[in-house]
Amino acid sequence: MSLTADDVLRLAQELDIQFVRLQFVDILGVLKNVSVTVDQLERAIEGRVMFDGSSVEGFARIEESDMYLRPDPATFTVFPWRPRAGGVARLICDIVLPDGSPFPGCPRQVLKNVLAEAEKKGYTVQVGPEIEFFLFHNDENNSHTLQTHDSAGYFDLAPADLGEDARREVVITLKEMGYSVEASHHEEAPGQHEVDLKYLPALAAADLITTFRTVVKVIAFRHGLKATFMPKPFSDQSGSGMHLNFSIFHRDENLFYDPQAPMELTPLCLSFIGGILERALEFTAVTNPTVNSYKRLVPGHEAPLYVAWAKGNRSSLVRVPVARGSDTRVELRSPDPICNPYLALAAVIKSGLEGVSGNIAAPPLIEENLYLISPEERNKLNIKTLPRTLGEAIEIFKESAFMRDVLGEHIYRKYILLKEHEWDLYNKEVHDWEIKKYMNLY
Ligand code: GLU
Ligand code: MG
Ligand code: MG
Repeated sequence: MSLTADDVLRLAQELDIQFVRLQFVDILGVLKNVSVTVDQLERAIEGRVMFDGSSVEGFARIEESDMYLRPDPATFTVFPWRPRAGGVARLICDIVLPDGSPFPGCPRQVLKNVLAEAEKKGYTVQVGPEIEFFLFHNDENNSHTLQTHDSAGYFDLAPADLGEDARREVVITLKEMGYSVEASHHEEAPGQHEVDLKYLPALAAADLITTFRTVVKVIAFRHGLKATFMPKPFSDQSGSGMHLNFSIFHRDENLFYDPQAPMELTPLCLSFIGGILERALEFTAVTNPTVNSYKRLVPGHEAPLYVAWAKGNRSSLVRVPVARGSDTRVELRSPDPICNPYLALAAVIKSGLEGVSGNIAAPPLIEENLYLISPEERNKLNIKTLPRTLGEAIEIFKESAFMRDVLGEHIYRKYILLKEHEWDLYNKEVHDWEIKKYMNLY
């Protein structure tokens, strides 16, 4: 059930809300907010709250900095960790210019544009995120350490899993906020956890990913722990990914499923996969946005490296899990949990939809462990490799008319500037690895 502006005003009264956080993300997907008191809610809901866009990463120049927040009433929810009397709620907003037109630097608007194209064809794109993260101990000054609270592994139980209490509270909090959680468990590495969220229409899923990251950080902090979504905190352990499960519905019908077809997958599903594989190299700068992201995309820890698809094989970029019927879905395994979910979903969904409209054939299924296939054989099979560094990803991104079209000129340009700068800073830095490797040797 989608809430209207009137519902929000009524609920704020009924639930004794005192503060409403108006939230949006910057170009890097970092959540920002401004708090208004409830007596300002009507003005806020009408989109009359202004802010300085020049102070937000990737937004605007100082000369044209006035922007307005336009809250989406459907995103109204209460923060369960704040006091109930005189409580705090939030609304996620789009950004508009003073003349009322959408601001081209608003990531949420970019996703809405792609979804509007899908809707014209009668498609509802559903997305189910599986999000991995680490919990670390804080020291006595409340600064994070690299100490994990456990030495548990995949699916282990308490008492080894001391993060279980924090994870349990994350799940309960999300439920109280109106979200459905399918499963949660300890992951492979010490201190690593995963929460699998029930699929939602793509815009709500991107809002949920943003919400999830905040909830995990807040709850971890309350347990004296530091949560991080950084993809690869330890070189020799699994990293954190964010698998995205896609399906396309027309009304109640999952358009990926046909019990009569080979593998019970429709041609539409196969060309959605074909489209994703076609654009995978181009969208990687967005799905894997940092220097650290590429330390995860290496052989051996169930993270993908090669552009191929499979049924079971976890070394491939795209997998079609066994579930069929209305649960039939395509799992993209490369994104990591720090990407801007609005831009990542926009790029991946657009890739898939282009695959569908262009009838792109999915390449043959490859079930072998891709980590073990020789480079010669990969060449023969025409299997491409994902970019190996942020630098390589940006170079590909810069050449991509596709990404420019999906993100729009404004975000595309700013993204290149920000990421080139980040890559440059990293390259100038002398790292511990170099000291260890070269200091004594030469
Ligand atoms: N942690 C792995 C990754 O980096 C994924 C493990 C899994 O299949 O859940 O993507
Ligand atoms: Mg996992
Ligand atoms: Mg998965």
